[in-house]
Amino acid sequence: MGLFVRVAVDQPMPVLFDYRYALPDAPVVGMLVQVPFGRREVVGLICEIADSSDVPEGKLRAVTARCDGCAPLSEAWIALASFAADYYQRGLGEVALPALPQALRDASRWNRLFAVEPRFRLLPQGRAQLPDALPARAIALRRLADALANEPALALSDARALHPKASVTFDDWLARGWIETVAARVEAPGANGPALPTGAAPLPVLTDEQRDAVAAISGAQGFAPFLLHGVTGSGKTEVYLHALAALLTARPDAQALVLVPEINLTPQFEAAFRARFAALTDSSIVTMHSGLAEGERARNWLAAHTGSARIVLGTRLAILASMPKLAIIVVDEEHDPAYKQQEGLRYSARDLAIYRAKQLDIPVVLGSATPSLETWWQAEQGRYTRLTLTRRAVAEAALPAVKLIDLEEERQRGRASVDGLAGPLIAALKTRVERGEQSLVFLNRRGYAPILSCDACGWVAGCPRCSAYAVLHKPERALRCHHCGWESRIPKSCPDCGNIDIAPMGRGTQRVEETLASVVPGARVLRIDADSTRRKGSAQALFSDVHAGEVDILVGTQMIAKGHDFRRVTLVGVLNADTALFSHDFRASERLFAQLIQVSGRAGRAGLPGEVLIQTRYPRHALYLALSRQDYVGFANSTLAERRDARLPPFVYQAMLRAEGRTLEAALGFLEQAAAAFAPLPGADRVTVYDAVPLTIVKVFNVHRAQLLLESASRAALQASLRAWQPALRSLKGVLRWNVEVDPLDV
Ligand code: ADP
Ligand code: ZN
Ligand code: ZN
Repeated sequence: MGLFVRVAVDQPMPVLFDYRYALPDAPVVGMLVQVPFGRREVVGLICEIADSSDVPEGKLRAVTARCDGCAPLSEAWIALASFAADYYQRGLGEVALPALPQALRDASRWNRLFAVEPRFRLLPQGRAQLPDALPARAIALRRLADALANEPALALSDARALHPKASVTFDDWLARGWIETVAARVEAPGANGPALPTGAAPLPVLTDEQRDAVAAISGAQGFAPFLLHGVTGSGKTEVYLHALAALLTARPDAQALVLVPEINLTPQFEAAFRARFAALTDSSIVTMHSGLAEGERARNWLAAHTGSARIVLGTRLAILASMPKLAIIVVDEEHDPAYKQQEGLRYSARDLAIYRAKQLDIPVVLGSATPSLETWWQAEQGRYTRLTLTRRAVAEAALPAVKLIDLEEERQRGRASVDGLAGPLIAALKTRVERGEQSLVFLNRRGYAPILSCDACGWVAGCPRCSAYAVLHKPERALRCHHCGWESRIPKSCPDCGNIDIAPMGRGTQRVEETLASVVPGARVLRIDADSTRRKGSAQALFSDVHAGEVDILVGTQMIAKGHDFRRVTLVGVLNADTALFSHDFRASERLFAQLIQVSGRAGRAGLPGEVLIQTRYPRHALYLALSRQDYVGFANSTLAERRDARLPPFVYQAMLRAEGRTLEAALGFLEQAAAAFAPLPGADRVTVYDAVPLTIVKVFNVHRAQLLLESASRAALQASLRAWQPALRSLKGVLRWNVEVDPLDV
């Protein structure tokens, strides 16, 4: 007899671990505890409480400590983590613990995290004596004394900001009886009241379409999935803001979760939310993304967990935030591949949002100008309610005109293109600069040139560790591998034949930046890509320059394509899009279409007419024709029809087993053994196992990669057989790593 707890810990095993529980206060499900694991102490989550255990008494160890500062995670949250673990073929601990901020997962930091800060108060004796006791020049000390005189209780950290030696000083003043410590008090969370929404700026008058959308969302009862399909600039954000305002006003304790695909979009959203919900205190709107410092991450997570944060704004990881009063979820740009986590737990935040909304019986809004075909298909079947915004919200703003520049025709007519920029695009850029309007040039390739090669012997610069070319980076004067980070200096001559005429082929953002500076003289050109924004905060600074009008032409990768509300951009040029037309990945055209609609959507948002020029060799390709008609619906329906004929998602469900070995043979061998060990479940629908194949870029960092695709018309059959397969997979050897990805995006 005794008390036992079953604890989830962050281990790659789909089991809970039993521990004896002998601490004074009773255990609670959802509580964080410290437990011995192997030779270490780790933090775990109590998932069950029992009065017996199957583990032999001698092998059972005891819970070392419990985290009393942190309220237990709710059963609903544990159920969400369990679902994610189950669906994505992981252990509960592997999902639950990484979802917590680092500070909570380290028991040695609990005390500090939840300790209440000492505060100090001035006593009458101090009030009388202190001013005279301080030397006139002791400015920092005087500031301390002033702060004490003005504050009912001065926190030590605030005091330290005024004087680095505040702590020593206070010890002295305590001894003299000038000040006293104030009984500690934890600030009550959730004391933000119902005062909502009272932004300073007048609210825009909603368009009819926006009003209908808000009404539908606000009127929803229980689980209600919405697809908010709105063209770029149709004011989807305004719909979210109104829907949230209605809900948060009606229910003073309700919480809302808003997901955005990219960290760079959080500041724009945060500003909009703070401005609109000005009555909320700072800590009731919190952000959650990988760019936060650890302390802030912990504070924000706890604010969500205690319920004091009313709005959580975050990237995909925020879908697993603990929000006990969660009442609505918004997923903006739901089609964005960034919602899929590509390592560790390979989850889709969008799909988990749907599950979570269903579990909690609340509305969920998926917004996009180009919904994923998975979502579109749900709406077509009537499972999601479609809300449509067909027009731009700003009265005079129309969707931009999309025109194709036929590169072949340009060439045949002998019209000059300069280093990849066609004449009509250069002319259009010049016109914009003259008019003082902004332009945006988009190409999805960073660096100067993707290939550096020798004409004489055919040598091509490659990465020694990967089966990939090394990309030429001119400003950094380096060859870089975009897959493993390998870097070297640019050779002055061909390493094979000594020829000094080695030349870059193709172009990336750096080269286009250089070309633009020479063909559009006087233009202020700015490049935004992963290279120009490596330093923390630099992306934000660069985007501010664009908004402030200090840039004429912005060149960049998909970083500039998404969600930004650029008010002065009237021209968008697209280079190099053709490469994605003939990809072997069946989702490539869907992605390209979405990307081009998104980037086109940056033009003409504020009323000045916008224009999009796409350079292509295939001006009659169906994708471009649909694009020039701004015809998402036509594109989506014809692509869905193709997918149905070809038996591809969303009409079938897929999972991918990937293996990494020291050799390709090892990786393929592992997958072949795995395939042989795969047993279809009796009575269940068919699961097809395809042949193991090498990845397109087979070698990365000296590791060889291969994959095995599984497919079924039944999600349940696929799920069940994957689960049954796990023990066999775990027993196989011979590779460095393997993983199973459910609903893979890159096939
Ligand atoms: P989307 O996310 O649909 O691309 P946004 O939410 O960024 O569009 O809105 C585009 C622009 O329209 C923003 O500048 C926004 O302030 C403005 N806007 C939105 N709704 C209205 C409205 N009802 N009246 C006037 N302007 C609006
Ligand atoms: Zn050579
Ligand atoms: Zn490499």
